[in-house]
Amino acid sequence: MCTTCGCGSDEVRVTAVGTTDAAGEAHGHVHAPGHHHAHEPDQAHGPDLAHPHEHEDSKRTHTIDLEQRILAKNDRLADQNRQWLARRGITAVNLMSSPGAGKTSLLERTIHDHGAGRPISVVEGDQETIFDATRIREAGAKAVQINTGAGCHLDAPMVRSGLEKLEPDDGELVFLENVGNLVCPALFDLGEARKVVVISVTEGDDKPLKYPHMFAAADLVVVNKTDLLPHVDFDVDRCEKDARSLNPDLVWLPLSVRTGDNLATWYAWLRSL
Ligand code: MG
Ligand code: ZN
Repeated sequence: MCTTCGCGSDEVRVTAVGTTDAAGEAHGHVHAPGHHHAHEPDQAHGPDLAHPHEHEDSKRTHTIDLEQRILAKNDRLADQNRQWLARRGITAVNLMSSPGAGKTSLLERTIHDHGAGRPISVVEGDQETIFDATRIREAGAKAVQINTGAGCHLDAPMVRSGLEKLEPDDGELVFLENVGNLVCPALFDLGEARKVVVISVTEGDDKPLKYPHMFAAADLVVVNKTDLLPHVDFDVDRCEKDARSLNPDLVWLPLSVRTGDNLATWYAWLRSL
């Protein structure tokens, strides 16, 4: 995970789109988890870390220990987010996928169709740009953009900063659109009520077995771009079988944002939350 991939070493930026922030003045800096990656091991182990004769085994043990501490800290902060949301009657959905599967398009269409039956606002996570928050704003919902810099996932403190800037009304549905990545977003609890994974038929049907943590954690899997099935070799049944082998309870939902096919089922699920 991220202690080995090196993500999160930059400062995170939180931008409220539609305010002066969006003109390029970044505010609300919070430290990414990389801040702790960089300092905690030194404090805990002192100069031993840099010792040239350190054995691989002790490095490995240390890395696992550091990962567990980062995740434990994140989980505590995620619980605080969950309480913050519960006090306001807000339901949060963590939306995850690889880049280009159609997370933002699904949200645009859902907002346009009033599909959730209640107001929606969105915390957008991307490494750079405010493109997606701008799209959500233009679709008619409030949005805050979190730029993670080198980071490859949202974590609980980033989401807290985003929620405080977003100021969702009581009772809203808040989507947390994660950074496009099927790997470490699965490990970080954000305080959400549900986890949704979006895959698309252009990505290949082998994703559940290649990225099992993501599918094991999901409450619902959207299979997007079904209008393209005649043009690609994507076995929907195989993909569903593989996903259910990891997680028998997940809701499996093929749909097409582009044509609107089966969006009614997605809206019914959102209204049940
Ligand atoms: Mg997006
Ligand atoms: Zn990451």
